Amino acid sequence: MQTWDTIIIGAGNAAFCAAHAAREKGASVLMLECAPEAENGGNSRYTAGAIRFAYDGADDIRALCPDLSEEQIAITDFGTYTQEQFFDDMFRVTRFRTDPALCERLVTTSRETMHWMRGKGIRFMPIYGRQAFKVDGRFKFWGGLTLEAWGGGPGLVDAHTEIARASGVEIRYETRALELLTDGHAVTGVKVRHRGELQDLRARSVVIASGGFQASPEMRTRYLGPGWEMARVRGSRFNTGEGIKMAMAAGASTYGNWSGCHAVGWDYNAPEFGDLDVGDGFQKHSYPWGVMVNATGRRFVDEGADFRNYTYAKYGRVILNQPDQFAWQVFDAKVTHLLRDEYRIKRATKVTAPTLEELAQKLEGVDPQGFLDEIRAYNAAVDTGTPFDPNVKDGRGTRGLAVPKSNWANTIGDGPFEAYQVGCGITFTFGGLRIDPDSAQVLDNDLAPVPGLFAAGELVGGIFYFNYPGGTGLISGSVFGRLAGEHVLGG
Ligand SMILES: Cc1cc2nc3c(=O)[nH]c(=O)nc-3n(C[C@H](O)[C@H](O)[C@H](O)COP(=O)(O)OP(=O)(O)OC[C@H]3O[C@@H](n4cnc5c(N)ncnc54)[C@H](O)[C@@H]3O)c2cc1C
Repeated sequence: MQTWDTIIIGAGNAAFCAAHAAREKGASVLMLECAPEAENGGNSRYTAGAIRFAYDGADDIRALCPDLSEEQIAITDFGTYTQEQFFDDMFRVTRFRTDPALCERLVTTSRETMHWMRGKGIRFMPIYGRQAFKVDGRFKFWGGLTLEAWGGGPGLVDAHTEIARASGVEIRYETRALELLTDGHAVTGVKVRHRGELQDLRARSVVIASGGFQASPEMRTRYLGPGWEMARVRGSRFNTGEGIKMAMAAGASTYGNWSGCHAVGWDYNAPEFGDLDVGDGFQKHSYPWGVMVNATGRRFVDEGADFRNYTYAKYGRVILNQPDQFAWQVFDAKVTHLLRDEYRIKRATKVTAPTLEELAQKLEGVDPQGFLDEIRAYNAAVDTGTPFDPNVKDGRGTRGLAVPKSNWANTIGDGPFEAYQVGCGITFTFGGLRIDPDSAQVLDNDLAPVPGLFAAGELVGGIFYFNYPGGTGLISGSVFGRLAGEHVLGG
């Protein structure tokens, strides 16, 4: 019977990074993917490909994006995103809960991992438009999120697949990992099901990179809490926590924020799972330029607390906790030109009206008088003396409101008005397995390494708590996937 040096469970970004690194070490690699090939790539395919990493300035960006023209470079201020800034963001948004050793590995090797990916053939480009607005003829990047993979998530997955295949990696689709095989101590392979047939596959090591448990309503409700079975899944329907469960059955220790997840405002009428034709188009992330109201017509959250990169991942939960689990995002004509592309998709739950009174009647499920009273009070509280600037936290807030808006506060007064209904869309779960930060090897309940077992990507616990800096999911999978791949042969 064939024995592989390593079997990797999953075929998303983390899994592919593990595969490339393992191949570099000369390991034979088999990847198992439960999805059919037409739905390959897991959550990674659903992403925009935005990827966060520490960089020192334009030279780093130029090295990662050799296709950039001199003209583009001349009109762009890439700024810097130093390791210190990345650490600050991780500590701030996780309220200092992130595991220091995992976070250090993530931040300090993010840049070299990007160069390694580029060296493998993954292409990147700056995220003009969404992460940099043009002001006085120049683009200025903000929020530490500067590059995305060429072709977004689909481009990233296709490039990974091509690189893996070219290096001799075998990928088996429609092959579901069911159970880890062990000799009572070390992991020795994987029991799989392929088109109804069970098979035991032997390996010297196994890397689990099969994502979180967000696509399991049962696990969502069990660990995130009541109401979470109602959330829509933004991405892959295949990330049902099986990798986590099979590792636990083999003695792995659990870690991290099991009641926490990344969840965003997501079109109220979006389907149960992600739709690859729409990608991440159901998200609605321009709320910093407007207001959000619930069924009572009242605002319930500071839409301008920070750049959307630092608030969007926790506001899904806030929306889930509103009456009937929805909100309407409301914008007036002063800001509609700033709305992200996702607001222009056909399948948006949208209403428009020339006046606020007419809009109030169209906001399904909302108390119209409550809404009109709320907007009147909000408009009166806006500090119109401070200039509006979408590229910086402009400090143009509200005064005296119980729910303040801290930045980018504009009156909602100029018609026509646009409003978009959102519910909660879950992206991925934060709780998972405990790994050794120096090898990505899974630890057992004595915190000793489980021989032959590694993990990377969404199912690694201890990195994210409560919230998440946008673009960190991919880089986390890349850093720890690569680390796992480097260690599958030992040493
Ligand atoms: C709509 C959306 C947009 C996003 N945008 C971004 C972004 O721009 N930037 C960013 O950094 N992050 C983003 N994320 C988060 C990002 O997708 C994840 O953090 C990252 O892709 C996780 O990679 P992974 O390799 O761990 O998991 P995945 O890419 O989900 O791969 C896991 C794979 O395992 C497979 N699998 C599951 N169970 C089994 C089993 N039992 N047997 C075999 N295979 C199995 C799944 O089918 C899947 O293909 C986004 C997520 C979504 C849903």
